[in-house]
Amino acid sequence: MSKRVYNFSAGPSMLPLEVLEDAGANITDYADSGMSVMEMSHRSKYFQKVIDDAEANLRELMHIPDDYAVLFLQGGATLQFAMVALNFMNGSGKADYIVSGTWSDKAAKEASKYGDVKVVASSKESTYSYIPKVKKEEFRADADYVHITSNNTIYGTSYYELPDTGDIPIIADMSSNILSVDIDVTKYGVIYAGAQKNVGPAGLTIVIARKDLIGKARPETPTYLNYQIHADNGSMYNTPPAWCIYVAGEVFKQLLAKGGLPAMETFNREKAAKLYSYIDESKLYSNPNAVEDRSLMNVVFVTGDADLDKKFVAEAAAEGLVTLNGHRSIGGMRASIYNAMPMAGVDKLIAFMQKFEEANA
Ligand SMILES: *Cc1c(COP(=O)(O)O)cnc(C)c1O
Repeated sequence: MSKRVYNFSAGPSMLPLEVLEDAGANITDYADSGMSVMEMSHRSKYFQKVIDDAEANLRELMHIPDDYAVLFLQGGATLQFAMVALNFMNGSGKADYIVSGTWSDKAAKEASKYGDVKVVASSKESTYSYIPKVKKEEFRADADYVHITSNNTIYGTSYYELPDTGDIPIIADMSSNILSVDIDVTKYGVIYAGAQKNVGPAGLTIVIARKDLIGKARPETPTYLNYQIHADNGSMYNTPPAWCIYVAGEVFKQLLAKGGLPAMETFNREKAAKLYSYIDESKLYSNPNAVEDRSLMNVVFVTGDADLDKKFVAEAAAEGLVTLNGHRSIGGMRASIYNAMPMAGVDKLIAFMQKFEEANA
């Protein structure tokens, strides 16, 4: 076996080793088909079972009711920024955005090409160190939807309570925390997520959408960007990202076998609590975010000295703790500890942080 590192990358990120090994073992002959999932027709009975199982298992994991469509698309969360606007800015043409980081800022800017976007709250002035709390009356009563980013991958904050929007559907970019905690899907109009953070390989985008909201896309919407087209065609209007769907489906199976999302939530809370409590105790490291909004998935920290941060990242990498650099826009460190990061990875990181602190005090 080749060596495996603890990879703290924000995305693409670690996948469960068992899933990778199993995919490897089946790579030339999947389910006695005599071919790889990468080689087979998406119209074959083999692949139909792969995609049906993936959808059924995701529905079971997240308790997705029948009145929601589950779609496997491409283009990443970035394409969703436009797709959401084209499909859902279809009534008043108004949409309210809460800007809690770079991704929600991008989502709002993209949507403003298509309609009347209002940024109802932003934490930009404090470098996105908290989740803005918005009262119901601050939303425009006739807004078609309210958009949030449920976990801010770059700044390391997360929603733990949804805003009260009344009857206005909430659309959430859940790219970096889908499947990390047990959520109530029925509180959302639409959930979307690029797969490469906490689900599977890059190239797959998951969309979970209330069926009564789709089917009203604006007339100029390109065919591929109309959710109804994908819902009507079982996510196979065109060739789907077959390999990515297969690997994501194997991840879903494994999560179910491990106790589903309640078990993942407990595990993720334990990992994050350990790391944050070490950071809070230490004299060298600090986390800049509001304690109640800290992300379970992306833990950011700094030493307060940019050169020392660089040294930290380099020395950690030499010990098999890789991709700990913060996002290129903010620097510092970021440990992304998604579902597939084992406790042993967090323990090894904390041990390294202690050693580094002693050596650089
Ligand atoms: C990574 C990320 C994106 C961008 O995803 P792509 O799949 O690269 O388009 C958008 N939103 C959030 C919250 C992310 O973490």
